[in-house]
Amino acid sequence: MKAQLENIYNLATSDIEQANTIADIEEIRLKYLSRKGEFNSIKKGLKDLSDEEKRTVGALANQITNDLESLLKDKYDKFYQKELNEKLQKDRIDITLSGKYIPEGKVHPLTSTTNEIISIFQGLGFSVVSPELSPEVETEYYNFDMLNVPKDHPARDVQDTFYVKNMPNVVLRSQTSGDQIHIMENQKPPIKVIAPGRVYRNENINARKNNFFHQIEGLYVDKNITFGDLKGVLNEFIRLYFGSARPTRFRSSFFPFTEPSAEVDVQCIMCQGKGCRTCSGTGWLEVLGCGMVDVNVLKGVGIDPDVYTGFAFGMGVERLAMLKYAIDDIRLFFNNDKRFLEQF
Ligand SMILES: [Zn+2]
Repeated sequence: MKAQLENIYNLATSDIEQANTIADIEEIRLKYLSRKGEFNSIKKGLKDLSDEEKRTVGALANQITNDLESLLKDKYDKFYQKELNEKLQKDRIDITLSGKYIPEGKVHPLTSTTNEIISIFQGLGFSVVSPELSPEVETEYYNFDMLNVPKDHPARDVQDTFYVKNMPNVVLRSQTSGDQIHIMENQKPPIKVIAPGRVYRNENINARKNNFFHQIEGLYVDKNITFGDLKGVLNEFIRLYFGSARPTRFRSSFFPFTEPSAEVDVQCIMCQGKGCRTCSGTGWLEVLGCGMVDVNVLKGVGIDPDVYTGFAFGMGVERLAMLKYAIDDIRLFFNNDKRFLEQF
């Protein structure tokens, strides 16, 4: 029986030696050491031996079992480590690899500037006019006549305004001011609205001028509206848009549809008024035009100028975006160059 045990021990150790994987080790354990394994079937014969033999053979059987278990464990540990290393190597994540680029959509700077301006005026109590009162294709009647623009005014010339082919008196609007007329024809005072929109001019395109651009028109008509209200609203707009209170000046100007009229300048944001290339050395930047609604315009839409007064203003979105972001060429807004657009 001793010889049988030793024989199995030798077979088992040789199997263990040849084992190559964790699966092999498990197979060997089952073959020799499990309840149905070869070792156990021999140990079952112990009961037929004398007490003396039981002790010596039993001790040998235990020792061989322990030895085999220890050999299997060593081998198992070795393979386990090896297979783990292989798995780690294979599944390794290279953290130095660059990530996958997922392009992110951006809002066009003219859209975000328009939205910002709208939001400021909404905060000051203005509402946005509905689009049907702000058509891009307009009649001369709304674009010029009702705005008090004389028949022989140079702005009416084809050199300045796009006329629609084969449609007499129809133009691509040259200003959003025509919206004032649509609004006042459709609404009784108090009126406190802004109208954002695209306008067209027959210009030679250069860094400063494009043949279309965007304006935001404002109109406030009510009882007792004064030039002081106009200054208060526009100074507050400039403070909120440029981020801090800035010196402004209201320069006397002329528009056919406002009287008195003014151009509003803000202290140059580049040089703080010292004079630089952007402000042509003046220290001031022109940001918008405005004025009190002309009596003739109010009469034209049936609003009694003895009861109501109002002010109007118009600003260029491109110009305001260029000033805020120090952009020196208006064409950048329309070239759709991603290197430019991605900066916003
Ligand atoms: Zn300057």
